[in-house]
Amino acid sequence: MANQPKFQAIKGTRDLLPPQTELWNRVEQTAREVFSTFGFGEIRLPIFELTDLFARAVGGETDIVSKEMYSFEDRDHTSVSLRPEATASVCRAYLEHGMQQLPAAVKLYYLGPMFRRERPQKGRYRQFYQIGAEVLGGTDAPGIDAEVIEMVMVFFARLRLEGLQLEINSIGHSARECRRGYVEKLKAALEKIKDQLGEDSRRRIETNPLRVLDSKLESEQAAIANLPRIGDHLCDECAKHYAEVKRQLELRGVAFKENWRLVRGLDYYMRTTFEITARGLGSQNAVCGGGRYDGLMELLGGPPTKGIGFAIGEDRLILSLQEAAKGDVAHGPDVYIAWMGEKTQPAAIAAARRLRNAGFRVELPPTEQKFGKALGQADKLGSRYALILGEDEVASGHWTVKTLADGSQQKYGEAELLEFLRLPRGPAKGQG
Ligand code: AMP
Repeated sequence: MANQPKFQAIKGTRDLLPPQTELWNRVEQTAREVFSTFGFGEIRLPIFELTDLFARAVGGETDIVSKEMYSFEDRDHTSVSLRPEATASVCRAYLEHGMQQLPAAVKLYYLGPMFRRERPQKGRYRQFYQIGAEVLGGTDAPGIDAEVIEMVMVFFARLRLEGLQLEINSIGHSARECRRGYVEKLKAALEKIKDQLGEDSRRRIETNPLRVLDSKLESEQAAIANLPRIGDHLCDECAKHYAEVKRQLELRGVAFKENWRLVRGLDYYMRTTFEITARGLGSQNAVCGGGRYDGLMELLGGPPTKGIGFAIGEDRLILSLQEAAKGDVAHGPDVYIAWMGEKTQPAAIAAARRLRNAGFRVELPPTEQKFGKALGQADKLGSRYALILGEDEVASGHWTVKTLADGSQQKYGEAELLEFLRLPRGPAKGQG
């Protein structure tokens, strides 16, 4: 057995290799296409920011900020952190570039790696990838909430992601009586059942009581089921907003389920929250989380600004596509050029260029090979066709194409060859 290599990727990080990266590209390309049809433009953000930005926006009491950030001191002794999420950065950029002056609402999407020091497991990594979008400024009309959710569902449908479940909730308004009153009631109720809760939840009674509702601990479920529900405490305006979000989803034909325990981990959310789970992911089955955060911009020193957004976990999205075998990617080249004879090489190079210009994946061996060996190699690489170029073929201008799946051979001139290669094809050999 080979020796262990000296260097390995750090725990919780991983290399994404071909052909898998083709699927990643397809997912990202689809996101760009779908989001732009909804009027979103791409924003590219720094990978690290002032630690303070995340402490302010995400909340110093959250697990993400208190335990999971990769922080380090910069040369001028300021503390900076690898971004654990991107909404804080999008809002920072919105204020920094005076995007309040743009016609509202400003619609931005981003994609890229995020960093959290979590315990790695299937679907949970320390460097993971998110695709997200934010709608900033303008109004908080419920039609915006519904359209943002619709956009995610359209994106998932385009990828043929299956077994999706959309859950929604309203957690009230942080600046209104409904949330404050509810949180007080919740705290009091949690104090009463304290001895049935684990250590994490007990700590959260003071720091982040809504998060207790999110607990997945089996031993706590019975006690949590009887806690007061925010839905019973919404003020009139929040209740109206929530009812209208549901109606707007129905208008768009988006199926959802209500879940009164859906609160989301970050401090800045208010009113609408939503989460989408997908099949085939085990315990880490949330592929998208989002919600409204009308108070966030003020936390960052900006004017009151409406905001709503979501983040999709791209790693999990890809895992789910792979589990459902929707993630098949073409493996080998379309055409392997088996050329022999020194005088043939210029024709082989020219053929490779023309086929590549026409969009085919072409493998051109750098040195001449015997036909038998070349065909063996084409087969190993999983190529669909071998283009056989010997001196006879070059002289006659008719090339032999061998279909590797069934061994059949045909002769074509260049124009006919392109036509033949463009014909719709069944799966290549070995990919059935
Ligand atoms: P959050 O920012 O925590 O709301 O996360 C949004 C989405 O990002 C989740 O629904 C997951 O799909 C994904 N996600 C969050 N943390 C991780 C992680 N450590 N590894 C992989 N995906 C993650």
